Parts: sequence; structure tokens; C-alpha cells
Amino acid sequence: MRVGVIGGGQLGRMLAQAGADLGIQVTTLDPAAASPAAQVAPAIVASYDDERALLDLAERSDVITFEFENVPAASTRFLADRGVPLFPAPKALEVAQDRLSEKTLFTDVGLPAPMFASVEDLDSLHAAIDAIGVPALLKTRRLGYDGKGQAHVHGHERAEDAWRAVGEVPSILEAVVPFTREVSVLGARAQDGQTRFWPLVQNRHREGILRVSLAPAPSLTEELQTAAERHARALMEELDYVGVLAIELFVMDGERGPQLLGNEMAPRVHNSGHWTIEGSQTSQFAQHLRAICGLPLGGTAMRGHAAMVNLVGELPDPAAILAVPGAHLHLYGKQPRPGRKLGHVTVLAEDPETLRQRVLQVIPEPSDV
Ligand code: AMP
Repeated sequence: MRVGVIGGGQLGRMLAQAGADLGIQVTTLDPAAASPAAQVAPAIVASYDDERALLDLAERSDVITFEFENVPAASTRFLADRGVPLFPAPKALEVAQDRLSEKTLFTDVGLPAPMFASVEDLDSLHAAIDAIGVPALLKTRRLGYDGKGQAHVHGHERAEDAWRAVGEVPSILEAVVPFTREVSVLGARAQDGQTRFWPLVQNRHREGILRVSLAPAPSLTEELQTAAERHARALMEELDYVGVLAIELFVMDGERGPQLLGNEMAPRVHNSGHWTIEGSQTSQFAQHLRAICGLPLGGTAMRGHAAMVNLVGELPDPAAILAVPGAHLHLYGKQPRPGRKLGHVTVLAEDPETLRQRVLQVIPEPSDV
């Protein structure tokens, strides 16, 4: 099989690496000539909306996928309309690109979300403040990620500042919820509708960027796992989804036990699933390729306990990381820049305490664990 990937970042790179083991040739399309994926696999250098380049990618591929949320949905439509096999279908990308459609879909399939309202102008922002209350977060409907395109709203007085801060573009106002932790559910759906899920992962963000994921999430209960899988499966079925899907969730501790609220979905392999390369029977990258190529899905059992530590902004001394037992270094071939994800380290251990000790040897910021 030959797979074309729109986007050549680290996710495309790790898809290409997983493809090599399965005899799947991955070609990526990305505007950057030295993209992380182009360093390990054939690449087409062009913008994501270059129709000739998209057709060239289709020519070189049996199936197409994408690794980046902000790939124009029109590019995936362009290919799908020409009968090019493309998974997941453009609908999933369109929904994930618009926070209003995304939250609406969550609630439609029975996944609760923080209270939200659509904001198109200053008047509707004031109306939304009345409907939802404060504190609240104003988030742009489109092109927001890692905490960008967001402003806090504390009342009517400073609402105009928040509206300006997000650039006066269509947005949603969302209630700030007192979550106790953030988790994500990752799973895959095959072309025949079969699904497989990994254990829930707990995620720690700082400055809006994912820093550490722990798998399985500490004190994970069967009820929480089952509930998350039920929501993810409902969403996948609604979208007739094929491939790996991630949903970021808030856990609220209530009197009736923990409750899940949907924050956002990623119709692709996800940063909080990188640990699966070494920590699971099947990595998320291999699983995504299996799903979109119509191959059987792999097992998702864990190999001990795993942590994933993102390397953000600065590169560490590789030797210091490689000296830690159970640590696996992944560098993406990117130039250091503040806030940029340059690589990650997966740490494995037999038990949570040993894992913690090992993570503390790897991590730049101990307060992240
Ligand atoms: P997002 O880009 O929507 O994932 O938001 C980035 C981060 O902001 C999340 O990972 C949360 O830590 C925080 N956040 C987002 N929405 C809310 C909310 N409704 N209530 C509380 N914290 C939030």
C-alpha cells in the first residue's frame, strides 16, 4: 500500500516511520522543504491548497490522510470529490476546525461539554455573558490551538477588550469549568466499524502547551474508561470515522463520581498518544495506517506504565536522557524556537513509582509531573 499524508510535521514523520515497518510507503505534502517528515520519507513541497500537488499526491497514493488540523478542509473535499480514497472523511476535519460545530456535535451524541454560546459580534458577546455567566473563556471558532485565540471574560465591563483580543472574529463563549484533571481518549475505528481504544491518558499543560502525558491516567476507573469509550464510539459512528481519533476531556469530580466534559477532538493521531510507540502493543501511528488501509486493527494492551514528556523550545543533552532506564528519545529534526515542540521522550516502567522517579530525571520542569 501507498499512503499520502497532507502535512509533514512530526505526526507525518512518525506515520512514515510506522509505515516503513508495515511495508507501507508514505509520501507527505508540506510547504516546508525540510519538514520533519521530508527528512525520513518522500515529500511533495507545495502549499496545502495547491490542486496540482494534491493530484500528484493522489497519483502516488492508494489512500490519503492528513496529520494537521488546519489543512484546508477544501483540499480534502477536492480529493474526495474526485473519488480519491481519503480517511477520515472531510466531515470530521470540518467539524474539528470549528469549535461551534465541534461542541454541538459533542452534545448531539450525548457527550456533555462546558456551557457555550455562539458569538458573532459585541452584542452577542454581552448576550452570551448573560446566558452563561462568568468567569468564561472567549475562543475563536477557527484556527485556535494550544491556548491561542482565547481571552478570559470576567464581566460585561471588559468584554470589549476580550472581543478585540481574539481579533473580532466569530467565536464561542464557554463557561470556565472547575475540572480536576485533563484526560484524553484515543481510539481507532476500522473501515468495517470495529473499534479499539487505549487506556485514558492524563495530560498536563503549561502555557497552553501539552507537557506531560501519563498512561494509564492515575486512578483510572473502569467506569471512566467505559464512559469515555462510549462517547468516542458514538462520535465515530456519527461521523462514519475511519482512523485514529483523539478527544480531550475535562474530568469533574462530583458527588456522583467523576464526570467527563468534552473539550476538543483531533481527527488524527495525537500528541497524547505518542507513548503508544513503545508503551502499547500497537502504536497509534501503525493503528491509523492499519485503519485507513483496511488492515486488521492491532491490540492496545499496555507494556507497563508509560509517560510522555514533550521537549519544548530547547533541545536537551541526548546523552542525559539516554542514560535514564526505560527512556526513549524521539527528535523531530526541527530548529529550536520558544514554544516549539522539538521532540518527546517516552519513559516506561513496571510500576507508577519507578515511572515517577525516571520521569523526574528526564523532565525540565518537575512541577509538570
Ligand atoms: P483549548 O485550546 O480549548 O484546548 O484550551 C487550552 C487549555 O485551556 C485547556 O487544555 C484547558 O487547560 C484550558 N481550558 C480550555 N477551556 C476551558 C474551560 N471551559 N474551562 C477551564 N479551562 C479551560
